[in-house]
Amino acid sequence: MLRELQIQVAPEIAAQQELLTAHVAQLMQVKPADINHITIIKRSIDARQKSVKVNLKLGVYYKEQYVEKATPLPDYKDVTNAPEVIIIGAGPAGLFAALQLIELGIKPIVLERGKDVQERRRDLKAINRDHIVDEDSNYCYGEGGAGTYSDGKLYTRSKKRGDVDRILQLFVAFGAADDILVEAHPHIGTNKLPKIIASMREKIIEFGGQVLFNTRVTDILVKNSEVQGVVTQKSDTINAKKVILATGHSARDIFELLDRKKIFIEAKPFALGVRAEHPQSLIDSIQYSCDFNTGRGEFLPPAPYAIVKQVGGRGMYSFCMCPGGVIAPCATSPGEVVTNGWSPSKRDQETANSGIVVELKLEDFKPFAKFGALAGMEFQKSIEQQAWHVGGETQRVPAQRMVDFTQSKVSADIPKTSYVPGTTPAELGRVFPGFLTQILREGFTEFGKSMRGYLTNEAILHAPESRTSSPVRIPRDPETLEHVQIKGLYPCGEGAGYAGGIISAAIDGEKCALKCADLI
Ligand code: FAD
Repeated sequence: MLRELQIQVAPEIAAQQELLTAHVAQLMQVKPADINHITIIKRSIDARQKSVKVNLKLGVYYKEQYVEKATPLPDYKDVTNAPEVIIIGAGPAGLFAALQLIELGIKPIVLERGKDVQERRRDLKAINRDHIVDEDSNYCYGEGGAGTYSDGKLYTRSKKRGDVDRILQLFVAFGAADDILVEAHPHIGTNKLPKIIASMREKIIEFGGQVLFNTRVTDILVKNSEVQGVVTQKSDTINAKKVILATGHSARDIFELLDRKKIFIEAKPFALGVRAEHPQSLIDSIQYSCDFNTGRGEFLPPAPYAIVKQVGGRGMYSFCMCPGGVIAPCATSPGEVVTNGWSPSKRDQETANSGIVVELKLEDFKPFAKFGALAGMEFQKSIEQQAWHVGGETQRVPAQRMVDFTQSKVSADIPKTSYVPGTTPAELGRVFPGFLTQILREGFTEFGKSMRGYLTNEAILHAPESRTSSPVRIPRDPETLEHVQIKGLYPCGEGAGYAGGIISAAIDGEKCALKCADLI
């Protein structure tokens, strides 16, 4: 008999199979030996009480045989001679669009400006060690897109559970651990993602699709308001009547191209701020109410946090929080400094980092109004360039202790942080416009009131965190998903303004692929 149980237990019981079986047997008033297997269907941590508990939804195989089931791949078709669709960008949106097309019997031609996951690693080293930013291969560009060297958090605000589950199952079918299917807040980790991404690419090629690296698209060909194909930086023309544009939130040259060609785009508000780093043990002690020195113990994961406050009429909130993680240099051009965060699957680094960002409004971009639809992008660029100047014109990041920042005081020293290129002590007010500095200062003070211990000089702020979402929307018809003016052009994923993370980008990629198939 398979029985479903919803229970709440201490972390040490949740983490040890034998203890869990004994506990469940006692609850069910049966012998432990009659329980053949316990499947975890959902797991979440409840840290609201003084002693942390784990919520488990279980499938209990009582006197019933358990047969392990592998998560299968979809039934992909050989698309070698099938109709072709061009996909620009091999991020989650582009890759999941390609896989969906193959499932539908259509041939994807994926054009990616960056390198494959292996070669890309060398360029990441060059940013970290030599402060050299390759404009085609960096933390945002290359196989797998911005998601490859990330924390790989796979949660989303999407309410369509079916869509989310399908993407999670595909990740598992391509090699992710199946606990992402049960965790309330699943993540994969930077060490595991590249292999999963590479298997997706191998599958696309195995079934007759094409994936071309080092292939930056420099023009989109349009005739009579219909897409004809694209031109690459090698001056090759590739023809196709359908183009999925999935170039991500950092592809400024694509936004400029569309603007120049008078293909309608519009400025979009986004959020901007700093990346804060605390000792993980401090965050654990706040979140789990445990002793700072003895720590969270061996059965709880490094604690995450999420915080949001209204400050000066705007939301200020944590973004892309990485427990046990590292702050990464995420610039996509020389002459700018950008931060973001990642963590390995075990989240076993000593620091916790999070973007702490403030909602921007279109009116904030007024000083850049002459750039029209690109005003927000220029606002973003100006802050990243200012950070580069303040940081010393390398990839060193301007940094300040948190309390010092709230008191407008340059920190006398900055301890070594996880940001490998290094830090330059600076007053972060020099990086941001006055209104933003003011909100961030007030906001950190507010955060300190609701998370006791959070506002501390042990926390180091790195500036800026600026690539939270796209500063531009590429509008599309809600029904056909084609660009509002250009037939056959499918703005897709985060860059177009239709996704805000790995899962939602992947879902949007599949949606665009399905729409392409409708019309072929
Ligand atoms: P992208 O992933 O940005 O992919 C776009 C691709 O297009 C890139 O590979 C780029 O090289 C390519 N491209 C751009 N211009 C051209 C051109 N002209 N020609 C050809 N190719 C081009 N999200 C989460 O959900 N969870 C996380 O834990 C998380 N952590 C992150 C950590 C870091 C360090 C970063 C940078 C991002 C993180 N994100 C995370 C955000 C997430 O990666 C993005 O939301 C997601 O990758 C967006 O997918 P996308 O396919 O729309 O665009």
